[in-house]
Amino acid sequence: MSFVLMPLLMLTVGRMNLLVWMTRWSYDSWNIFHRWIGRLALIFAIVHTVLYIVYAHLVGRLWVNFSKLYWNCGFVALALYLVLSSFPSARFIRRMSYEVFLAGHVLSTVVCLVVLFYHTLWRYANEWLYITIIYWAIDRLSRAFKATSLLPLSGTLTDYGTVMRLDVCISKDVRIRPGQFAHLRFPEVRYMESHPFSIAASDHYDSVEGKFSVCKQGSRARDTESSPLIPSTERNECSTHKAVSFIIRPYDGMTRSLYERFEAKANVDRSIPIKVYMEGPYGHEHDLREYTSVLLLAGGVGISFTLPYLLNWSAVLSSQEHKPRLRAVWIVRSLMEVDSVLNLLDGIDGEVQESIEIWYTGHEGNLQSHAEACATPTLWTPWIPRVFFGRPHMEELIFQALPDVEIEMTSSSLGVLACGPGGMLDDCRFVVERMVLSATARIHYVEEASTT
Ligand SMILES: Cc1cc2nc3c(=O)[nH]c(=O)nc-3n(C[C@H](O)[C@H](O)[C@H](O)COP(=O)(O)OP(=O)(O)OC[C@H]3O[C@@H](n4cnc5c(N)ncnc54)[C@H](O)[C@@H]3O)c2cc1C
Repeated sequence: MSFVLMPLLMLTVGRMNLLVWMTRWSYDSWNIFHRWIGRLALIFAIVHTVLYIVYAHLVGRLWVNFSKLYWNCGFVALALYLVLSSFPSARFIRRMSYEVFLAGHVLSTVVCLVVLFYHTLWRYANEWLYITIIYWAIDRLSRAFKATSLLPLSGTLTDYGTVMRLDVCISKDVRIRPGQFAHLRFPEVRYMESHPFSIAASDHYDSVEGKFSVCKQGSRARDTESSPLIPSTERNECSTHKAVSFIIRPYDGMTRSLYERFEAKANVDRSIPIKVYMEGPYGHEHDLREYTSVLLLAGGVGISFTLPYLLNWSAVLSSQEHKPRLRAVWIVRSLMEVDSVLNLLDGIDGEVQESIEIWYTGHEGNLQSHAEACATPTLWTPWIPRVFFGRPHMEELIFQALPDVEIEMTSSSLGVLACGPGGMLDDCRFVVERMVLSATARIHYVEEASTT
């Protein structure tokens, strides 16, 4: 039975994940299935081993079997199953060093597959192993086709204290939708590592309707001219290409090295040119047209997930007779996080801007003086009244976002899209779970973790 689960294990974790495409569930959700299927495979393998040991003992061949390669390979495979599905996969090891975890996981899988061929004498139930290997090869190969360009792209990295912003010029032909992410590899920092990051903004999005929408091109063009984010040498290139932006929080691994490289090279604008390989986009857009009310909730760099929906809001809903009620909440620890996307926020339609709240939980002093001191104070102007201090009450947020079934349509529904740190998402999920039981409106919860 554990052999049968092998292709499924590979399917649930691949980048070219057909299950994501078919179900429109997130990669995160399928990753959870991957872990549970792995544990199930381990249980089947243990049952299989115990039963064979008992059987061999009963027929008096137990010790003889220990001299046979196929028998011993079974034990090696079981040990590797244990390694793959239990302690090294534990959250704290992944957090300590994701790269070690990943390399160990890949290596153990390769060895496990080889050992299993010997265990089955290259004869029995091999089809499951072949399917697994073929799918793995296709998944690896597909990454080459997902590469945005064969050569590294020109990017600009700018520091905003607790976060960095990366602006990259890519071909206009790459279609990007809200809710998508890309894997980035920085050859000057760590050549072998590629990490996923949400695409916080693109010059233009392809909406769910397939229409081409431009998010306030005027303001973007103006900003591109005036801001240091895209160096002058690359502005011409960007006029034939499009710019995509990422917000990156430095942690301890590759992102820390990226920040250290930045520190070593930064100019007075606090920005550096950087080469980057981009693979993607991956993921899909959630259709917000089906809801009566929408709550977009972001914590810190989680704004990268919700911002594209805000930038694209008017275009997607222009044809709708009943526009969903929108509330967008962004919780930030530092006002500089807001600085990092100010020119992008400026691309949001005025009416939509009214639905946005920025909740500031830090202690950096006076908001007005921060806004005046920033590089483009005028961009702060519309946002000053939209800043609230402290942490919003999660239950209140979701309760207030619920559509009123009496007044609104009987089939009313609330869509909650949340992205942020684990603790914030746990709170949000907990409240939604409780409200699903009592609320008359249907609640659909979509979450994207900004860390795993
Ligand atoms: C779909 C998706 C979108 C994301 N979008 C953003 C974003 O817009 N901005 C942002 O700052 N971060 C985002 N992240 C998180 C980002 O991928 C990690 O912060 C980054 O990989 C950390 O790299 P590191 O080597 O510095 O990590 P470490 O310091 O080694 O670890 C920090 C955390 O990142 C996780 N992590 C490390 N490498 C990976 C990886 N290859 N894949 C997934 N998780 C990893 C670790 O498990 C740990 O929880 C996103 C993650 C996912 C899955």
